[in-house]
Amino acid sequence: MDVAVVGGGFTGLWAAIRLLDTDPSLRVAVLEADRVGWGASGRNGGFCEASLTHGLANGVLHYPDEIDLLEDEGRRNLAELVAFVADEGIDAELEPTGQLLVASRPHEADELRAYADLSAAHGGGVRFLDRDAVQALQPSPRWLGGAMAGGDQCVMVNPAKLAWGLATAAERRGALVLEHSRVSGLRRRAGGVSVAVDGGGLVEAGHVLVATSAYSAWLRRLTTVFVPVYDYVLMTEPLTAEQRASIGWAGRYGMSDSGNQFHYFRLSADDRILWGGYDAIYHSGNRVAPAHDLRPETFAVLERNFAATFPQLDGVRFTHRWGGAIDTTTRFCATFGDVMGGRVHYALGYTGLGVGASRWAAGILRDAVLRPQSELLRLRFVRSAPLPIPPEPLRTPLVNRMRDAVIGADASGGDRGLFLRTMDALGIGFDS
Ligand SMILES: Cc1cc2nc3c(=O)[nH]c(=O)nc-3n(C[C@H](O)[C@H](O)[C@H](O)COP(=O)(O)OP(=O)(O)OC[C@H]3O[C@@H](n4cnc5c(N)ncnc54)[C@H](O)[C@@H]3O)c2cc1C
Repeated sequence: MDVAVVGGGFTGLWAAIRLLDTDPSLRVAVLEADRVGWGASGRNGGFCEASLTHGLANGVLHYPDEIDLLEDEGRRNLAELVAFVADEGIDAELEPTGQLLVASRPHEADELRAYADLSAAHGGGVRFLDRDAVQALQPSPRWLGGAMAGGDQCVMVNPAKLAWGLATAAERRGALVLEHSRVSGLRRRAGGVSVAVDGGGLVEAGHVLVATSAYSAWLRRLTTVFVPVYDYVLMTEPLTAEQRASIGWAGRYGMSDSGNQFHYFRLSADDRILWGGYDAIYHSGNRVAPAHDLRPETFAVLERNFAATFPQLDGVRFTHRWGGAIDTTTRFCATFGDVMGGRVHYALGYTGLGVGASRWAAGILRDAVLRPQSELLRLRFVRSAPLPIPPEPLRTPLVNRMRDAVIGADASGGDRGLFLRTMDALGIGFDS
């Protein structure tokens, strides 16, 4: 193989596609431990955003000198993703709706106004909406204000269908997509890397791309880069015509409330409501396991918060519940690097905003293999690493301390307190 890609989520599948679109003669294999899209890519909320930096404010904070270029890259990336889905005929239920952010506390409304101002300063089109304007769009006792971003900033997708469509597109270009092929280790050899696959298989490759996101602890080097944090989702039954009419929402935009603990919610193609987020759960020792995919305590909280948001929908049933692991980094956005003498390249760390950004990151992985002269590889965004996260036994208390602090900030009118302000000054954050 010229390139072995480890992981069959968005990052790995886009990497295979982008490699083969650049050089159709390459031999590329995608090695996926389970089924394509089994990880976060098949389970996420379906908000496909332009931002590469986990939002504009986070980008301004960490990359003030590059943020305008990164915003342009992000918008271009999203437009290309939308065009690709159309050209390939992928039925991913894509809707270029944009996104409505809503505030349920006064300080959040102030923050959304500041976000709209920041967007204007960076050439973006986010509009602030007062309480009446938001209520006219989507009536809820909770909303005090909002900010609307357009379809060039955010589109909705059915993520599993997108992942399956990308796998087909990769195979159409000649990639081998090998499911149930868990990689257990890598070994450097002359001119390449030996990739060990569970069950005794061995793949010899010139380059390896690591695209295993929150499941990347198999490569020890990456364990200080990220924390796997579980995020949970509910899905209602399809709404009746009366229920649908009672909640407005004519524009079908994705929505998100604004606390540190926030919900994201949207309408599916068959008019269910997907309602996720709020809790961000770390299991000590970096544990990721199917046993964590369901968490009744979190589902109960999500149901309560849903009822407070949509009293009109009293009695609606939840037919689906699930969870998945997010690759959180201290800087909230993708981090890149090389190991084994530049033969192995990785991209991970999207922190809950990787549906769109993974395609761009896959372009960086492609450039690392095929276009070492690419200007994008020189960006600080690509070259620099987030502050490492200490291993256990320090990791669990630190993550819990951060989590308690961000929850406390929501409860105290947005006051981040001394601990969070210190972490902010050090450039260390916790989010999902
Ligand atoms: C519940 C939830 C909601 C989210 N909502 C959103 C959202 O609305 N918008 C957004 O932008 N982002 C969201 N995200 C984040 C987004 O889904 C991810 O950033 C993105 O899917 C990451 O893609 P990936 O390909 O890097 O990782 P993954 O999709 O996790 O893929 C990694 C793959 O690697 C495989 N793998 C693991 N170990 C091995 C191994 N040793 N050998 C071979 N294969 C292996 C796994 O099986 C998996 O398929 C959400 C995530 C979750 C969990």
